[in-house]
Amino acid sequence: MNAYTYGRSIAQRRKAMGWTQSQLAEKIGVSQRAVETWERGIHLPLLPEIIEEALKMSPRVVNDFRWQDDALCKDKDPDLFFPGPGESTMGKEAKEICKKCPSVEPCREWAIKHEALGVWGATTARERSRLRSKLNIRLETPQFCYAG
Ligand code: SF4
Repeated sequence: MNAYTYGRSIAQRRKAMGWTQSQLAEKIGVSQRAVETWERGIHLPLLPEIIEEALKMSPRVVNDFRWQDDALCKDKDPDLFFPGPGESTMGKEAKEICKKCPSVEPCREWAIKHEALGVWGATTARERSRLRSKLNIRLETPQFCYAG
């Protein structure tokens, strides 16, 4: 299994569920950093079956995430969207992809409220942090309605 391909798959399915990296990490008992490194393809998880179980068991999310159907990042390397320290060039590449994405506006709106890390909606984590301060918005854990 290729670490980049599998990491991309984890990121896509996590986003489709509307989960942050921290939320997935909490569900499977690992650190957010571990999820980030998997999604960036830095290394493969030791026990991928636990991740698969978590994603498979995910309840139906009723929130409207249809904008993710058109996300241009679905087929891109998640490493581009989660650049590490000193990898600002990669963040720029992700932002260029976002600018062409039909979902950029709902994605940005979502990310300002819910995503602390990575490039979302053509904004970096730092830019969204500034926006939250300016707009007096607190970073929130997403609220989901689950099917029974
Ligand atoms: S705006 Fe960027 S991060 Fe958001 S869905 Fe589109 S490509 Fe992905």
